[in-house]
Amino acid sequence: MASISMSHIVKKYGDGFPAVNDVSIDVADGEFVILVGPSGCGKSTLLRMIVGLEDITSGDMLIGDRRVNELAPRERNLAMVFQNYALYPHLTVYENIAFPLRLAGAKDDEVDKKVRAAAETLELNEHLERKPSNLSGGQRQRVAMGRAIVRNADAFLFDEPLSNLDAKLRGQMRTEISRLQKRMGITTVYVTHDQIEAMTLGDRVAVLKRGVLQQLATPRELYDNP
Ligand code: ADP
Ligand code: ADP
Repeated sequence: MASISMSHIVKKYGDGFPAVNDVSIDVADGEFVILVGPSGCGKSTLLRMIVGLEDITSGDMLIGDRRVNELAPRERNLAMVFQNYALYPHLTVYENIAFPLRLAGAKDDEVDKKVRAAAETLELNEHLERKPSNLSGGQRQRVAMGRAIVRNADAFLFDEPLSNLDAKLRGQMRTEISRLQKRMGITTVYVTHDQIEAMTLGDRVAVLKRGVLQQLATPRELYDNP
């Protein structure tokens, strides 16, 4: 686990108007911060700079005490959870969760210990031998989170993970993600354009508009002071 510190972050694509313009946000160790705002306000760009899929034009980004501007994505130890979960359809839940450990060459008994511990946390024990196609959307999301847990990622990054789900499942998943994040205590940055998600999921909400940070406050403060 680690804090994520963004200081005066700017992103320009070509010579256009900055997509992200002088944004500073400190995400504390274990904190859950939501990035919210209308389409095109720069949320995904900010997330992609954190994970390393986009270069930072100027400003400083720290993960824990490491300055990441020049770190390759694979050196950042972050776990991104996408809308489509990116699970391997031909592998069981067990092997999907085990995948990063196998890749790292872990021994079978270590793999087994970590996969079972993650499955316990995520309440997936009874589904370990299933394939992703036999799981609900919520269960698939948990498998994707399991892969992040076993490799001890420093932080979770979510990019609109619920936007493809129907309203009922979205409600269930909101409750579930918030509960799991608290239980795991893992630093989390979560992008959404959904007001309900913004006001119910996180510890703090960062409101972006045309690349500029408008507000950074708890949901309570935003509710009292819209
Ligand atoms: P959001 O995630 O809030 O919808 P984005 O971060 O995707 O916003 O986009 C912010 C701004 O940057 C938009 O004006 C968008 O058109 C622009 N943008 C995003 N990606 C690129 C890109 N690869 N090349 C050029 N402009 C981009
Ligand atoms: P590669 O085949 O080199 O891994 P990708 O485009 O799939 O190419 O990813 C480039 C880098 O971006 C990866 O090495 C990884 O560090 C980072 N990355 C991609 N997807 C994720 C993800 N889901 N979570 C964390 N980092 C990711």
